[in-house]
Amino acid sequence: MISNSVNPFEEVKKQIDIIKEKIGIDPSVAEQLKHPRQIISVSIPIKMDNDRVDIFMGHRVQHNMWRGPYKGGIRYHPTVALDEVKALAAWMTFKTSVLDIPYGGAKGGVICNPKKMSEDELERLTRRYTSMIIDVIGPFKDVPAPDVGTDSQTMSWVMDTYSSIKGYSIPEVVTGKPISLGGSFGREGATGLGAAICTRNAAKKIGLKLRGARVAVQGYGKVGFWSAKSLDEMGCKIIAISDTGGCIVNKNGVNPDKVKEYKLKTGSVYEYKGCKNIPSDDIFELDCDILVPAALENCITDKNCDAIKAKIISESANGPTTPAADQALFEKKIFVIPDILANAGGVTVSYFEWTQNLNRDRWSLENINRRLEERMNIAFDGVYKVQKSRDESMRTAAYILAIKRLEEAHLKLGLFP
Ligand code: GLU
Repeated sequence: MISNSVNPFEEVKKQIDIIKEKIGIDPSVAEQLKHPRQIISVSIPIKMDNDRVDIFMGHRVQHNMWRGPYKGGIRYHPTVALDEVKALAAWMTFKTSVLDIPYGGAKGGVICNPKKMSEDELERLTRRYTSMIIDVIGPFKDVPAPDVGTDSQTMSWVMDTYSSIKGYSIPEVVTGKPISLGGSFGREGATGLGAAICTRNAAKKIGLKLRGARVAVQGYGKVGFWSAKSLDEMGCKIIAISDTGGCIVNKNGVNPDKVKEYKLKTGSVYEYKGCKNIPSDDIFELDCDILVPAALENCITDKNCDAIKAKIISESANGPTTPAADQALFEKKIFVIPDILANAGGVTVSYFEWTQNLNRDRWSLENINRRLEERMNIAFDGVYKVQKSRDESMRTAAYILAIKRLEEAHLKLGLFP
């Protein structure tokens, strides 16, 4: 989504320049990171259930592969735009670098409204899109995963289409699959759990007790739900949840599972029992300790950031904060855990899934969650150390860490030819 006239890819380029100024990275590294390596745009013809043929625009943006194969989700949403997918792909490059996992960054997007399409239409769309990008994806080239509007079923269709065309079963071409197809235990909740682990680290740093800490979660899809559930299990109180239908507030806390059940039945969290109902956007102004943006980009802006009362913002979504708001939050001394760190649990467990697939192996949930926690803690500490030593925001520190690693990799690789 591009709102508030913020073009996310222009902001990515500015961010790279800021880091270049601050730490003096190689100018060619900065320039290359400002240009995605390859962009594939396709017009996807799909026979709809009413027999009409509709055309959907789709993209796959491959941003960088110095540190490993391209990696990133596929988004289905009506507001998908090419510059948005470019930004999302670049954020994947930085995210995999912050977590030090051996991937580059990519992202896919199709302009469609999955909520208004039938299962059959979505299957045809996914299979045709996969067939149109088949030459550029692959287990060692570019490994897609779910994102907004896609899920494990979507990944099953990608795997089946890819395997059918290649002539043998290739589960490692995608991550985020169902367990029955080689998906990993813990993948579904990984983004939310990773964000909760970062939040616990941040709380410790500012002396906030997690037990009883009041949490507001904006967006209640997979990531919002699992963030709420993980924080609830750590002892926090989920006092507000919003989605596009509205926002529910209960000072005593709600049960994340029960709210999810209710949403599955009614389509929204709105008017869940025992809660006060307020407009969705009012969630940002609530008196709470932890705010978890878990929806789309550009939700925290210069218009609403002054009203934010949270002590910690844990960015489960990609790009939820505009640059102007980011600066204001830094000045307000709010502890912002940036998206490229906070929501990296998803791609981390995607990496575990890929590793298991390549080894024809399966790890237990305890093993996966232990490894995830270890990786998230190491990444958090690494970013925090840079932040402390340079007196920067956590976001700037995360970019410094990510871009330094990318520079190091590139300088070793050299430039072909
Ligand atoms: N779509 C998720 C993200 O933005 C996961 C990507 C992946 O697992 O490759 O991080």
